[in-house]
Amino acid sequence: MQSGSKILKFDVDKLRSQFPILTQKINGKPLVYFDNAATSQKPLSVLEKVYEYYTTINSNVHRGIHTLSEKATIEFETAREKSRKFLNAISIEEIIFTKGVTDGINLVAFSFGEKYINAGDEIVISEMEHHSNIVPWQMLCERKNAKLKVIPVNEKGELIIDEYKNLLSEKVKIVAVTHVSNSLGTINPVKEIIEIAHSRNIPVLLDGAQAAPHLKIDVQELDVDFYVISSHKFYGPTGSGVLYGKEKFLESMPPYQGGGEMIKSVSFSKTLYNELPYKFEAGTPNIAGAIGMGSAIDFIENLGYENISTYENELLHYATDKLNEIDGMRIIGTAKHKASVVSFIINGIHPYDTGSILDQLGIAVRTGYHCTQPLIDFYKLPGTVRASFAVYNTFEEIDRLIEGIHKVKKMIG
Ligand code: PMP
Repeated sequence: MQSGSKILKFDVDKLRSQFPILTQKINGKPLVYFDNAATSQKPLSVLEKVYEYYTTINSNVHRGIHTLSEKATIEFETAREKSRKFLNAISIEEIIFTKGVTDGINLVAFSFGEKYINAGDEIVISEMEHHSNIVPWQMLCERKNAKLKVIPVNEKGELIIDEYKNLLSEKVKIVAVTHVSNSLGTINPVKEIIEIAHSRNIPVLLDGAQAAPHLKIDVQELDVDFYVISSHKFYGPTGSGVLYGKEKFLESMPPYQGGGEMIKSVSFSKTLYNELPYKFEAGTPNIAGAIGMGSAIDFIENLGYENISTYENELLHYATDKLNEIDGMRIIGTAKHKASVVSFIINGIHPYDTGSILDQLGIAVRTGYHCTQPLIDFYKLPGTVRASFAVYNTFEEIDRLIEGIHKVKKMIG
């Protein structure tokens, strides 16, 4: 069925050989890994880069004059430059290394919040946000006595843009929405969302956790004010990510955490903070994580986003068509523009039972709320089953999922 792809510009079998984890058996069956929206697997090139770092140049960055420290610093800063190019930021001052999307959003909610949010102000998010793009804003609202406003979704899982426009009063100080929904796969019209906010002078943060694995991101083209990504979603290590922020905002925002690295000089009477981007990078960073992320960026760029998204779209459409042929199947999230995520429920069968039986068959899917409880509540469901596809997945694996679902139905339905 690999030949079923009309567009394949790379050899999936060869690609899969770079992911040794995929060759194992789970519960006696060949692993089918469809939990990529939770975290993707890592290619050998990334793993080798991290191994090479620890076995040849491990030392702290920006500190020593000794050779290893200089080498580690060069590799670390090379990863920052790769991240800058990856997002098409203007300068490396706009690239803050973080632990990931959650960390990046917390940083902005705290620091932007300290500077710009006052009692009575409003923050706009959407109904399809991941908890990490809800809770930090709620915490900020509590601290500052501000208000959270929510853009509703329609039944297809698309943001209702007219309602969004109605929310944008003078009190709104920031809009924070996801680029791609992790639960439904919806690709939001982020350019339009940003233009509408900017026409009222409101900055926008985009949660790019689920966009980076699938879509080319260009922060200048989007004119977005803050953009956050997590390396582990796009073939890199866990615990590393990037916060992109426009320099004019980052300059004006106070530090998020205090400690080493983020200071220029310290005395008991006065401490001077470091320049961007270091002002927001207190403590020893995740050096290996950043370097591994740089290697993941190379991996993606070698494949090319056009190839990635065209192939993943084929997987998505193949899976959607096959799922729709199953009696009692309901796909949750039928937006016009989707990334390779498909959420579903089978009539009368709890998602947890579906997930458990599929696991017995070696098929890894995610079940539950997917950290988007308000969204799943909107659909009045106990959760969904989510299959999310990466560039190493195959049509045969989707056939295995479909067979598995038939088994689930036979056993419980
Ligand atoms: N936002 C979205 C849309 C996500 O899918 C995720 C990860 N599931 C996050 C935020 C949080 O990312 P991380 O756990 O890497 O901080």
